[in-house]
Amino acid sequence: SYPLMEKLVALSRRRGFLFQSSEIYGGINAVYDYGPLGVELKRNVKNRWWRDIVTAREDVVGMDAAILMHPKVWEASGHVENFHDPMVECRKCRRRFRQDHLPEGSTQCPECQGELGAPRQFNLMFKTFLGSTEEGAQEIYLRPETAQGIFVNFDNVVSSNRVKLPFGIAQLGKAFRNEITTGNFIFRTREFEQMEMEYFIRPGENTQWLEYWAQERLNWFRSLGITPEKLRLRAHDEDELAHYSTACYDVEYEFPYGFSELEGIADRGTYDLTQHINLSGKKLHYVDQDNRGQKIIPAVVETSAGVDRTVLTLLADAYWEDEENDRVVMRLHPSVAPFKVAIFPLFNKDGMPEVARKLYEDLRFKFAAFYDTGGSIGKRYRRQDEAGTPFCITIDHQTLEDRTVTLRDRDSLEQIRVSLDQVEQVLEEKVGT
Ligand code: ATP
Repeated sequence: SYPLMEKLVALSRRRGFLFQSSEIYGGINAVYDYGPLGVELKRNVKNRWWRDIVTAREDVVGMDAAILMHPKVWEASGHVENFHDPMVECRKCRRRFRQDHLPEGSTQCPECQGELGAPRQFNLMFKTFLGSTEEGAQEIYLRPETAQGIFVNFDNVVSSNRVKLPFGIAQLGKAFRNEITTGNFIFRTREFEQMEMEYFIRPGENTQWLEYWAQERLNWFRSLGITPEKLRLRAHDEDELAHYSTACYDVEYEFPYGFSELEGIADRGTYDLTQHINLSGKKLHYVDQDNRGQKIIPAVVETSAGVDRTVLTLLADAYWEDEENDRVVMRLHPSVAPFKVAIFPLFNKDGMPEVARKLYEDLRFKFAAFYDTGGSIGKRYRRQDEAGTPFCITIDHQTLEDRTVTLRDRDSLEQIRVSLDQVEQVLEEKVGT
């Protein structure tokens, strides 16, 4: 275990970022719930992604497919046949491990030193049933990725929208994998959210688009304020490539347990569309009007990121023990911080709460704002430091005299006085977009 990860688990629970799922019943392994602060942080990540990849781009459209899909989808995609991890079980303690997560050639259980059994292939998809058993229920899967929802809707999107190559279809949503080894908090969970985009291109342009998207996606993580030196792009070796891919980059972040994947950028070629054409018998071609109406199967460069892994990265990267000032600070970028501003009356009297509440009411529709009257001002500041709130505003005696407030900066602890009329504008400049 890693001290930083343990501290993040404790802080997340204490402040309401994340809780173990079904905690009162002893919890359920590798499933987590987002609390009031966590849900804001996660939403901000998703909104940023959607804004930057869909709203801000003319060449990408969005969609939202159902989690439940026809079982044939997963036959075509190769998941029924190939979405396995090699699992080994300890003969003594019965713990299960992903073989590729153990040191090469391991024969002993890392927990109890018992003997490990032979590796077995374990499919990661969750099965469930559609319809009641009397009707002859159909076995279906919870989707292990969102991408296939895009491929099976390729023709629907092309014929209902005026999209022209190259173009992307983006989707954000839940995915489920019955992971063998979990741990490291929300790095690897059994239910998680993905932010995926399939970028359709003319075959032959794969390499140039793969390079383009790899760089774009690395820059996106940097734009969230994550320490640039802890982010890197890593090209996959040939033996690491997934069954559908000929080239792939990972965006990785340096966690206490080493550089680990946040997002995969993969050249999927024409694999998925070809598979769906073959299995469904439908025409999922693109008519290239710019090229004498030629019918082609576009190639695909995919960008596939985890929402929860991004949240974990933000939490890990933000955590700061400011020993000089005896406080813990989550130095979250203002654009993702759950609350942008907290507003306090210094005392609960002399007209201070009235002014503070009025300011709160004015600001809250523009900035996620938090109002707090509880405890000493020092305690209220500390609480916001742990919540990652970049700015705190205090209404004090001087406010009543000259209508200025104290604006405190979370990281530098600098305090400036700002006129009440200018608070909104000053915050707008500081918070940015
Ligand atoms: P790994 O090798 O870590 O199991 P993967 O290469 O199978 O991951 P992909 O299939 O490329 O992962 O999924 C794309 C993204 O979805 C990952 O980069 C990650 O951010 C996210 N993701 C995948 N599996 C999980 C999981 N179990 N928990 C949280 N996020 C996940």
